[in-house]
Amino acid sequence: MTDSPSSSSGLEVLLSTLQNAGDVESTLNILSVLDELLSAGTDRRIYYMISKGGSEALLTALVNTARCFSPNYTILLPLLHLLAKVGHRDRRIGMKAEDAGAVVLTLNLLKQNLKNAKRAAACLWVIQVFASSVSTANLIGENCGLDVIYRLIPHYTTKNLHTIKAAINAFAAVLCTKANVCLVVSKGYISGLLRLYEDWHCKDTHHVAIAIRHALLRCLHKVTYSTAGREAFFSLGGLRLIYQTTQTCLMNKALSCLVEPSVQLMRKCLPKTRLPLTSDLSAYSFPIPGRPRSDLHVNIAFGDSCGDSDEEEPEKNQETENNNFDEDLEIDLNKLRHRPEPDRPKEALAQYNVFCPELYHDFQAQQQFALEALLLPHYNTWYSQWYVIPELDLGSETEKSSAASSSDEEDELCYSSSPHGSQIHGTDPFQGKYSKGAAQSDSRDFHIRSTVLGTSPSFRTTPKDSRGDNFLHQNGHGHNDEEETGDESCHQTIIDRLLERNASCIPHHDPKLYRSAASKTKSIPDFNILGFPDFWGHLPPQGHETMAPRKPNVQRQKVLEDVQRFLNKDDIINKVIFDVNDSSLQCPSDSTESLKFFSKFECGNLRKAVQVRRYEYDLILNADVNSCQNSQWFYFEVSNMEPGVPYRFNIINCEKTNSQFNYGMQPVLYSVREALEGRPHWVRTGTEICYYRNHFCPVRGSKTANFYTLTFSVTFKHSEDVCYLAYHYPYSYSALKAHLKVLQKSVDPAKVFFRQQTLCGSLAENSCPLVTITACPASRGWKDLHQLRNRTYIVLTGRVHPGESNASWVMKGTLEFLCSNDPVAQSLRETFVFKIIPILNPDGVINGTNRCNLNSEDLNRQWSKPDPVLSPTIYHTKGFLYYLNSIGRTPLVYCDYHGHSRKKNVFLYGCSVKETLWQSAVDTVGVKEDPGYRTIPKTLDRIAPAFSFNSCNYLVEKSRSATARVVVWREIGVLRSYTMESTYNGCDQGIYKGLQLGTKELQEMGLKFCHSLLSVSKDVKTLYSRRLINHIDLDHNTLDHTSNDCYEDDEPPCVEEIEYFKDCPTLKGADLDSDVNNNMECSDEDDECEEEHQRNSFSPSHQNSMKTRLYHLISQTSIGTE
Ligand SMILES: [Zn+2]
Repeated sequence: MTDSPSSSSGLEVLLSTLQNAGDVESTLNILSVLDELLSAGTDRRIYYMISKGGSEALLTALVNTARCFSPNYTILLPLLHLLAKVGHRDRRIGMKAEDAGAVVLTLNLLKQNLKNAKRAAACLWVIQVFASSVSTANLIGENCGLDVIYRLIPHYTTKNLHTIKAAINAFAAVLCTKANVCLVVSKGYISGLLRLYEDWHCKDTHHVAIAIRHALLRCLHKVTYSTAGREAFFSLGGLRLIYQTTQTCLMNKALSCLVEPSVQLMRKCLPKTRLPLTSDLSAYSFPIPGRPRSDLHVNIAFGDSCGDSDEEEPEKNQETENNNFDEDLEIDLNKLRHRPEPDRPKEALAQYNVFCPELYHDFQAQQQFALEALLLPHYNTWYSQWYVIPELDLGSETEKSSAASSSDEEDELCYSSSPHGSQIHGTDPFQGKYSKGAAQSDSRDFHIRSTVLGTSPSFRTTPKDSRGDNFLHQNGHGHNDEEETGDESCHQTIIDRLLERNASCIPHHDPKLYRSAASKTKSIPDFNILGFPDFWGHLPPQGHETMAPRKPNVQRQKVLEDVQRFLNKDDIINKVIFDVNDSSLQCPSDSTESLKFFSKFECGNLRKAVQVRRYEYDLILNADVNSCQNSQWFYFEVSNMEPGVPYRFNIINCEKTNSQFNYGMQPVLYSVREALEGRPHWVRTGTEICYYRNHFCPVRGSKTANFYTLTFSVTFKHSEDVCYLAYHYPYSYSALKAHLKVLQKSVDPAKVFFRQQTLCGSLAENSCPLVTITACPASRGWKDLHQLRNRTYIVLTGRVHPGESNASWVMKGTLEFLCSNDPVAQSLRETFVFKIIPILNPDGVINGTNRCNLNSEDLNRQWSKPDPVLSPTIYHTKGFLYYLNSIGRTPLVYCDYHGHSRKKNVFLYGCSVKETLWQSAVDTVGVKEDPGYRTIPKTLDRIAPAFSFNSCNYLVEKSRSATARVVVWREIGVLRSYTMESTYNGCDQGIYKGLQLGTKELQEMGLKFCHSLLSVSKDVKTLYSRRLINHIDLDHNTLDHTSNDCYEDDEPPCVEEIEYFKDCPTLKGADLDSDVNNNMECSDEDDECEEEHQRNSFSPSHQNSMKTRLYHLISQTSIGTE
């Protein structure tokens, strides 16, 4: 659009003529020409006119005309119409109208014309438009505007419908402020509005006034914006009324547009209900060193804004975050370039030298060592228990917890090498090992067992030791000793037989090693039960799992069911059937009427289960330890189900404002029975999934705090089954420990240098493993040792956020690949030394927290000044990085593995000075930067199907200045410092488009990340590149894969609203225009068409010639160009 002074002169002349009140005829002609011009094109013409002072000109003309003792409606009416159209698109129209003195004046015009439908409608549209600004709306309210307008809304009639609609819309518009809502509530108008809605609903049998009913719903939405409004709505029977009218609307297609606003209105007005808990505080608490227990509550005021998302960034208030996005960017070049002094003295770094055993190791013993390992005896006897955790022998295996203790676990590990060791990797499970017949007979035996003891407890309880220190007895589960003992031995036989047959079926998994590892894991509740899936192992199912299609109107259906809880209480049970704090509820009587729940095992998170209806349960998640927040992760056991019946589960205290569960993501399910029949799979499950804001609020504190419901339905396949449901594929801390042992045993110690050491202990004194992987030197010759000691370092970390189990599966893929015989892996080992800390937050993972450590802090916000006591894993990881830095081995690449709950695909966040400055439009001339940070993401985009380059960014935000990525980049000086975010859901691009990611794809991502490291290694390029790149290409047909554009941030809107913040039925510009246009035509209504009469007194030919001249004048303007 051109904008030169000469080209705009035509329009400006017109506007100035309009303001200076020429004769009636020319004013009318100008208005007519403007209206035609503005109606013909798109809204751009109107915006152009606004930019040229069009609103002000129309307001001045309005004021000049209306101020007369006897206003000329021949001019006034088209003027008001035009003002409504233009003003509707002018965000500042309210202020402009106030400045021009047009607000009260228009209100007075309305008061003078209450009986003239057409004039009243014109005034109402203009008032509606003016009310877009808060102060203007308040001004209208203060001048009794709401009362005047309210009186224009009659009971059912067939006359003057467009005026009535204009009145209701204006009423709704003026209600955009708190003050006006209070006014209306205090005057009791809610009752009136409800009666009006009921009246119109009942009498408008031919559905000619749907727009009126829609507009009334909008008013009800507005008045229930306040707590008092919602309470009045509920106490006046609004819920029942709207529920009943909605039932009619659901049956009639013509009324379908009324359903959604009705449903949202009801959802909003459900009475706020406190969670059925005694405290918001986590069921698990942990004494923090140096802090008295009573101080616990200081930190945890509900609703404070400590890190609360599972991503790197806080996201509680997405809108605020987006609005402040640019402000959050670090745009001070000096600060971006500034490298702070180390947070500790150089002497403190010496302790970390033990974590570089590859630099000091004498490889002489390597061959000998390997030989010994083969000759050593097999497993210790594993007693005769299966998956109850054995008693801890504290005397022999106390984990060391101080930094640099470097309890080199290799010795201990090698002594427990498995008889199945050779079968562990690369086996094809169940092929020819486990016949169908055997599976059936085993599961039949098993089910007989579970009938005798009741399902779930029998599954997991056997004596902790031979003294009969029995879980069942502790909980008063009524079985006599003899029966117990007899059953146990029988049970063990079955389990032993099953284990015997299945022991090596799952690659890199060994149930016995798992149980051994779990016995050393320290949990706050002192778990003595293993989650069956973690113990038994998971094998990804064949094929891919597509994203779940969202059933139309699923949210509507769920909300209507929720509403019925308040209207029809007959089928409501409301019985607590599980409470993690109440052991009497953990083994309920063998009622067939309800499911059984359990969550007291590693990573488990379910605090309470309430049976709402026969097949519906409200589930409450446990907040993070020592906190009352961050519930999102869940993992629990369920049993005593009826097969073939859909059960509805509602997780009612989720905290995020939106979720991938609205966009095709499903929770995961593991069936013990399926596992015993040879299908040990976590599978995506659930139908009728949706995520929406509910009516619950915290036990204490503000009732305005909100929770969200994740609802899904599961139809169980088997009776006599025990199933596990989780937010995402669980990966426990004990699983890592067992996995590392399996890996250690899988590598050829003559070729692969694999060391697991303890970096430090966590707050609860669980060890934080640090793994070193590199290649052993080809010989002990100087050249080979020199090459080894000059390799480049790569540091990888993960799972700082415990709820992000996807990060662990990606890490599993990385670890397995790096230990494999793959030639690429071999080259990578020969080129790099990998330092990997797979779980930065062991305590969080173990205790089933979602975001924080035991001190209720987000560990990924502690990197700037980590506290050695409170955040030991971060303190020592950073210390180790400083150490590498101090010996001249600053890592080439650092990557922290995370999971992202709001986006699809896998992507990286990096750090770039230039891109951060560009983003804020800061001049970057003269800023030099190595563009190498882009190499890895670019390579991944080509080779990794799940990866999306377009989702990556490299911005340095102030709010993330204490994250691993930014601190390692800024303070350690690692150019390629990344956060890798993996979706919980699936991909919307590439060859995985439309699919959910499973553990196979997540592990593949970990492998691809390793592949991408080839792109940053000059050594590899020169020495091996051809062979290796060929290898990659042949293996994976994804070289051509490049991601398409994907949504920059959140998802496109759902069909249904997730939030109800906005006015539910939004008013569109085109609707208003068409109403206004109808009003301009001579109406069929009974008021005198005086204006038309006057206008017609000008001869049409005269008008036309005048118009032609005006068109000529205005044609110089470019407002016609689109
Ligand atoms: Zn994270």
